[in-house]
Amino acid sequence: MDLKNFITIVPDWPKPGISFKDISSLMENGEAYRFATDQIVEYAKDKAIDIVVGPEARGFIIGCPVAYALGVGFAPVRKEGKLPRETVKVEYGLEYGKDVLTIHKDAIKPGQRVLITDDLLATGGTIEATIQLVEELGGIVAGIAFLIELSYLDGKDKLTGYDVRSLMTY
Ligand code: 5GP
Repeated sequence: MDLKNFITIVPDWPKPGISFKDISSLMENGEAYRFATDQIVEYAKDKAIDIVVGPEARGFIIGCPVAYALGVGFAPVRKEGKLPRETVKVEYGLEYGKDVLTIHKDAIKPGQRVLITDDLLATGGTIEATIQLVEELGGIVAGIAFLIELSYLDGKDKLTGYDVRSLMTY
């Protein structure tokens, strides 16, 4: 199955000059959603994953069905102020300004093997921040999976030394 057939490219969204890769048309198709999930499960299944971690919100869409299929838990990474218990946080740079991501302090136990998931790798800032949170809690990043990698933005340079899988590349 060519998953790219299910991605809708939206020109000039959310800003002029950005060509947005809309994954909602993939998620809306049961066969494509299952196929994409299965590909990531196949990638992760021999990595002895203890828990899946994904940043809000589209990291949940990818990570939760994978966690279910692997029979492991899922821990959400969220913007500041959204998680109700004690968190650790990391600041990361955006194109303009800064943002903060958080994770519950007890979400990952030291030594646990973590699969990180998100829909798309652009500049790599979001995933770099997510890696920092996992490692601060003592987790081992055993794999990182995306539906899409925008290779022209060189986000992969931030992931040197990590095991990364992207199902589609633009
Ligand atoms: P980065 O931090 O790598 O620059 O940006 C990646 C984050 O922005 C991901 O969490 C992703 O959800 C979102 N993102 C940026 N561009 C796109 C896009 O074209 N399509 C989708 N679906 N998400 C995007």
